[in-house]
Amino acid sequence: MIRPDYHSAVRFCPCCGHSVEQKESIVIEYWQGEHNVCFTWCHVCGWRGEITEIKRVTTTEIPE
Ligand SMILES: [Zn+2]
Repeated sequence: MIRPDYHSAVRFCPCCGHSVEQKESIVIEYWQGEHNVCFTWCHVCGWRGEITEIKRVTTTEIPE
């Protein structure tokens, strides 16, 4: 049973923007090491994939 006060980190489809909190869509949250991963399937557009929360990003600085 899902707690009524529980909300996943993913609330909207990254493809069409429709809410994935409705019972027809799927959001399964799990952990890989220190990363929080949400498998998401949108019932409106059919997009499915994994969304990973990133806590730190390392990038290069592009010269101007
Ligand atoms: Zn969608």
